[in-house]
Amino acid sequence: MTQRYFSDTPIGQATSVLLQGSEAQHLTRVMRGKCGDRVELFDGSGWQWSAEIEQVGRNEAALKILSSEEVDLEPALALTVGIALPKGDRQKWIVEKLVELGVTTIIPLTTTRGVAQPVEKALVRLRHHVISACKQCGRNRLLEIGDVASLEVFLQRTGERRFIAHPRSAQIDGDNITGETIGEQEACNISIRDIQLESGDAVVAIGPEGGFSAEEVTVATRLQWKMVDMGPRILRIETAALAFAARLLIGI
Ligand code: SAH
Repeated sequence: MTQRYFSDTPIGQATSVLLQGSEAQHLTRVMRGKCGDRVELFDGSGWQWSAEIEQVGRNEAALKILSSEEVDLEPALALTVGIALPKGDRQKWIVEKLVELGVTTIIPLTTTRGVAQPVEKALVRLRHHVISACKQCGRNRLLEIGDVASLEVFLQRTGERRFIAHPRSAQIDGDNITGETIGEQEACNISIRDIQLESGDAVVAIGPEGGFSAEEVTVATRLQWKMVDMGPRILRIETAALAFAARLLIGI
């Protein structure tokens, strides 16, 4: 496979590109790129460029652009995943896999039962993992990692198909979670197997290890989010996020 490198400066019509920082280090030190080698470049715009290494310095590499091509690997369905992220390396793993599956945006969520969410430095690291995953899987647009949001704020989103993943929600009816009837016309819950979306926008909220509280789920359903049941077994955060994204995005 052709080696791919990310340029954080837009390439546009440029005839040459200077890679610096970690991408240059990857090319020069890890991959031991030499003058004359062909590589692929992308800048997150949806285009990719074929380029030839012209000069290799200690911490930079100069490349000559040979050709450009728009290659769109984005799914027709734009999926945003709001997620109470687990700690440490599990975050990196989730980000990597959601990039591969074609998720458009991840929003780290703070919830009543969640652990602390990434601070700015950790978000920068996660955005770096996005680039690595895009290099590997061929995506020419970067998954966006948004700023941390409280679930309360996240639930105010409108204009998309909105789902909140909640174990055993198939057995809940509107009357039971709130003590009042929520929406008479439509059920407030759905099974993962009944979700069929091909295009447009959708958003899902995935809870922390402790799950969403009854109050949080109540607020969501009052705002017309649909509770999604993904089967009888309790999935870990990363499995739940991946399973939901795969169900909607795999193959498109
Ligand atoms: N301790 C909680 C489970 C938390 S699992 C409990 O027993 O209820 C972490 C998150 O993954 C959940 O908040 C939910 O968003 C999602 N999840 C896990 N298993 C699920 C399932 N079977 N159906 C729907 N969502 C699930």
